[in-house]
Amino acid sequence: MSLEANLSTILNNVRQSCEKVGRNHDEITVIGVTKYVTIERAQEAVDKGICHLGENRLEGLIDKYQHVTGKVHWHFIGSLQSRKVKDLIDKVDMIHSLDRMSLAKEIHKRATKSIDCFVQVNTSGEESKHGLHPDDVHSFIEKLAPYTNVRVVGLMTMAPHVDDESILRQTFSTLRALRDDINKKQLDYAPCSYLSMGMSNDYQIAIEEGATHIRIGTKLVGSN
Ligand SMILES: *Cc1c(COP(=O)(O)O)cnc(C)c1O
Repeated sequence: MSLEANLSTILNNVRQSCEKVGRNHDEITVIGVTKYVTIERAQEAVDKGICHLGENRLEGLIDKYQHVTGKVHWHFIGSLQSRKVKDLIDKVDMIHSLDRMSLAKEIHKRATKSIDCFVQVNTSGEESKHGLHPDDVHSFIEKLAPYTNVRVVGLMTMAPHVDDESILRQTFSTLRALRDDINKKQLDYAPCSYLSMGMSNDYQIAIEEGATHIRIGTKLVGSN
């Protein structure tokens, strides 16, 4: 399938899912995940109107950042080693994988302005997944107050690889409930209004459950 056809399918599905639950499709940001594909393919995505790109490795992000032209908002979506923060910090618009205090400290230290971050939560309980246990998210966010360059714009999760729709919904709604609780606290440094959830296989369910940022690789730009 051409990128154009993929994009139009996705945008249609986004609209449908929004309509189904009475949301406005303007609330959804589609992030094209280009980790599997070439610079040329990433450029094609930008030329077709995708202005948010996501990478899960520093090397991939820098490579695309240096070569892709046009107005692009860069998202870092992979697990991030603290020592790599300094190379990344002036290039990204959003970091989706804040999952520990040492990383928050390093972001605060290296950033020259406040950085929009999602706190990553392991909602599925799978050991292979990164992210905080849901029970630890409140205290983690409270401890972020002194690190004023870290702005918690929302929560992020990765759903388990299952087809069982009820499990996916459960995963996403857990994240939404947690987001709502933190959002209610009205912390200056943690507005926590966004939900980064939903990938190629589950983004429609994620939108029905409240996603604001969906991260799509395979079904948008392809996987090779
Ligand atoms: C690879 C990746 C995606 C995109 O996955 P697809 O299933 O190809 O859409 C989204 N989020 C994260 C964190 C990823 O690593």
